[in-house]
Amino acid sequence: MRIKDTQCIIDFAPLKAGEYSFLFTLDGELFKENHYEDIHDANLKVIIEFNKNSRIMMFNFTIDGTVNVTCDRCGDDFNLPVYLQKQLIVKTDGREHQEEDDMVTLATGEKDIDIAPYVYQYVVLSLPMQKLHPPEKDGTRNCNPEVLKKLKNIEVEKSSDEQYIINSNKRFSHEEEKPKKKTT
Ligand SMILES: [Zn+2]
Repeated sequence: MRIKDTQCIIDFAPLKAGEYSFLFTLDGELFKENHYEDIHDANLKVIIEFNKNSRIMMFNFTIDGTVNVTCDRCGDDFNLPVYLQKQLIVKTDGREHQEEDDMVTLATGEKDIDIAPYVYQYVVLSLPMQKLHPPEKDGTRNCNPEVLKKLKNIEVEKSSDEQYIINSNKRFSHEEEKPKKKTT
């Protein structure tokens, strides 16, 4: 397996007991190398805080920044703000390396952890179903006005088509509503 370029290694083994905080900055390469094409670029600050006090550590992730995506409404690219907090339980001295939902067990001998795959997963899963230019203070979105003008025209045409379909459906449903003769 090719080692990925984007790595955020936390070398926890030599650390003494106590609280730690690590800061990483990630760019769009994380998404490019995982072939995730919805994100074209990124500028993310990742803070990992944990307390090394036992063989079970709680990694607190704070991911803050932007990802560049395409607006589903106007088709322009824009920077979507990302802010999320996640927790990952990191167990050490396991018999073998194991990954579950919010927990990773490291085998004895694993002395560091690459948190880049977790950041990738958290960010991708946090994306909304519909990616839209964020609203301004007055509630309007910063969409490309030229595209919106064209969209408006299409919507007008579509709504008259839809009206026709609704009308014809009504006609059909009326026909079906006629009382049926009893067959008994
Ligand atoms: Zn837009």
